[in-house]
Amino acid sequence: FNFTYKPLKDSNGKVYAILHSAIDVTRQVQLQQQKDEFLGIASHELKTPVTSIKAYAQVLERMIRSEGDDKKANMVRKMDLQLNRLTGLIGDLLDVTKIQSGKMTYNPVKFDFNLLAKEIIEEMQHTTTQHQIRFEFEKDFTVNADKERIGQVITNFLSNAIKYSIDSQHIDVKSYRQNNEIILSVQDYGIGISKDLQHLIFDQFYRVGGNLQHTYPGLGLGLYISSEIIKNEGGRIWLDSDEGKGSTFYFALKE
Ligand code: ADP
Repeated sequence: FNFTYKPLKDSNGKVYAILHSAIDVTRQVQLQQQKDEFLGIASHELKTPVTSIKAYAQVLERMIRSEGDDKKANMVRKMDLQLNRLTGLIGDLLDVTKIQSGKMTYNPVKFDFNLLAKEIIEEMQHTTTQHQIRFEFEKDFTVNADKERIGQVITNFLSNAIKYSIDSQHIDVKSYRQNNEIILSVQDYGIGISKDLQHLIFDQFYRVGGNLQHTYPGLGLGLYISSEIIKNEGGRIWLDSDEGKGSTFYFALKE
């Protein structure tokens, strides 16, 4: 039960009664659990057919291209790229259910941090013709963390940087060491985020509202998942942003 007490006052401010209420929250908790469970099952069920369609699309593209019909092959390629987006969205939903049920697993390994960043930058560079992603790093760092999950955070920073800076040309990625931490930053010169909303963007499902919601697709889960990953690795995640000028997203991991 959720108990609340509210004093009722007359026009002179004198308390003349106290309102007690008791709300049975069992049902609410049950419904929330059912919702979380449903989300988990639904995203799992969606993943299987999408993976299969993706495999067929790739085979089909190769077959059509080898027959010399580039126009048709490019159409299948576009299908494949959209399927990547779908796979990403389903993956995010699955991750959220894992985080909420405490079932997210982490497998720490030692890896070359800059090499991972370079691989992801190369991959993400293929998704944009308009931006040039530049990378600057001090020296090579070895990090002990879940490589795939850290890669997921870098991918999320980069895909946001690309998505929210459609009118600019550059994205700057840096990695450096500061006070026993390895820091990665991704800077864009796009729309930025107003100061009063910055504390909200790591929340689950939060998206900056207004017209922006329609212009930029997304579920508002990427930064929430990223912050959960970084916190789990004992690191820090934050941003620096000026509305209209651009944003820099950072994460730091202990050396
Ligand atoms: P999504 O991009 O799917 O909405 P995220 O969790 O990655 O979800 O981001 C949450 C919100 O933070 C976004 O909806 C957007 O409003 C804001 N945001 C994130 N990255 C940037 C960026 N680089 N520039 C401007 N706004 C951003």
